[in-house]
Amino acid sequence: MTEPTQAPDEQATDDTEPLSADDTEGCHRRNCEAPATFVAVERYQEETGHGAVEARAELCAEHAAEESPANLDGAYAEYIFRVEPLADAD
Ligand SMILES: [Zn+2]
Repeated sequence: MTEPTQAPDEQATDDTEPLSADDTEGCHRRNCEAPATFVAVERYQEETGHGAVEARAELCAEHAAEESPANLDGAYAEYIFRVEPLADAD
């Protein structure tokens, strides 16, 4: 189970959100020790009416390829699902 984090309503600065090196450890999947090189982001609307929620999971390439939308029932006008490379994957 992922832990959705509350996304700020107004600060839509999700294009280039640098992740500090401290946050990039290994793949988010359990039992996977590969380094995370991608981040899967899903933004959806909470059913409870708390607003947008942005869930992020850092994944290795293999698991990033397997990632798929999990909250389509919470889709709304600004729904996002995307996988992008980690900025500091070098
Ligand atoms: Zn993995």
